[in-house]
Amino acid sequence: MRRPLVAGNWKMHGTRASVAELIEGLRRLEVPAEVEVAVMPPCLYINQVLVGLEGKAIAVGAQNCALEPMQGALTGEIAPSQLVDAGCGMVLVGHSERRTILGERDEQVCRKFAAAQSCGLVPVLCVGETLEERQAGRTLEVVAGQLDAVIDELGVDAFARAVVAYEPVWAIGTGLTASPQQAQEVHAAIRAQFQAQSAEVAQAVRILYGGSVKAANAAELFGMPDIDGGLIGGASLNADEFGAICRAAGN
Ligand code: PEP
Repeated sequence: MRRPLVAGNWKMHGTRASVAELIEGLRRLEVPAEVEVAVMPPCLYINQVLVGLEGKAIAVGAQNCALEPMQGALTGEIAPSQLVDAGCGMVLVGHSERRTILGERDEQVCRKFAAAQSCGLVPVLCVGETLEERQAGRTLEVVAGQLDAVIDELGVDAFARAVVAYEPVWAIGTGLTASPQQAQEVHAAIRAQFQAQSAEVAQAVRILYGGSVKAANAAELFGMPDIDGGLIGGASLNADEFGAICRAAGN
């Protein structure tokens, strides 16, 4: 049985005041014990969130990390070891906004994945196709390529301590959501890709769906056999909405 995971990606949102309000809202939530819940604030607010959520079963993660595991001369970056020191347990790697806007490539994503894992962080590898790629019928090929970039370099067993998030780029922050069937097709293909190399990893790895998940569509998505939870952007900035999504993952 895979334990569902719901992670909130706050992206570049928040001020100390709005983060304090969101913490208050999260503290009031009834989080189902069978669901692992995490939030990923901007780095500046990680400590505020960790302190604010002390005693609450909500983990804190980061949205990005440096290519190198340890601290050193790399202006503006944050090392995975520093994220661990701060209290983070997981980190997103390869989010599509970083791939498309900041030009992050598979090779860098793979190095971040390895650096994070070497420090004990759980990498959440984000993969997904653009609208053009979907319309050209290339969805499965694109996603398989993004996954292979890590599997080929680090081996399939690296995914025994990692999470995959399938996030169609056309669904992120657009209000468009992949239908449960569209998402399931890709999730099943991802699991089959693992299965070809390791039945154990394929059975255990959690594959999250991300892309305009809301309370209204979460239950249907999470009801699909290969969808093990969600990576939630916009809707995670509202504690009540986020709580409803977490509860949908527990049903
Ligand atoms: C995301 O940024 O990972 C995401 C899924 O965003 P949204 O839920 O806003 O589409």
